[in-house]
Amino acid sequence: MLTHDSSANRLLIVAAASAAASSLLTYSVIRWRSRTFQHAHASRASLVEPSNGDFDATLADPYDPSPRAGHLVWDDYFMAVAFLSAQRSKDPNKQVGACIVDRNNIICGIGYNGFPRGCPDSRLPWAKKSASGNPLETKYPYVCHAEMNAILNKNGASVEGAKVFVTMFPCNECAKLMIQAGISEIVYHEAKDQPAQSDSPLITSSFK
Ligand SMILES: [Zn+2]
Repeated sequence: MLTHDSSANRLLIVAAASAAASSLLTYSVIRWRSRTFQHAHASRASLVEPSNGDFDATLADPYDPSPRAGHLVWDDYFMAVAFLSAQRSKDPNKQVGACIVDRNNIICGIGYNGFPRGCPDSRLPWAKKSASGNPLETKYPYVCHAEMNAILNKNGASVEGAKVFVTMFPCNECAKLMIQAGISEIVYHEAKDQPAQSDSPLITSSFK
């Protein structure tokens, strides 16, 4: 028998939320596609240790007119920005970042998971579970997800037709927000109930 806060029950809730988000995206889908995301972990690692030699200008031949090889491709660049944004999160269990990009590859919104503006991190709970079973003693009623913050923090009037790069598969609430905001593509790195592997593909979902 499942108890209210059993791990099995929590996994069921997570799976249900992920399935709801998938359903929302599928109903709005034009096409699904996946491709190899070669630099996800390299980009994430480079945020901590940017010493792989690629950025050392002293190694370049000053007479060579060729562009530098090994530069970040757009997808890796924006996903790295999402990972960097996630590092701002004070959530002790999960840090999520999102980066909205317009049709011209210009960043128009960045966000991470956190409490609403002005709500003190020291006064609201970051716990995932409550010993008394009171949901108000957990983070869930209070946290604004990364996608929500990226949309609300946008630096233009609209994100219609934009892409969102997010470090984790969106929940059903954020899926609804992104659809209503006119987002046309989601690129995510990690499924909610399936942590990304080093060779995991970058999954994208396009919808209108
Ligand atoms: Zn969400």
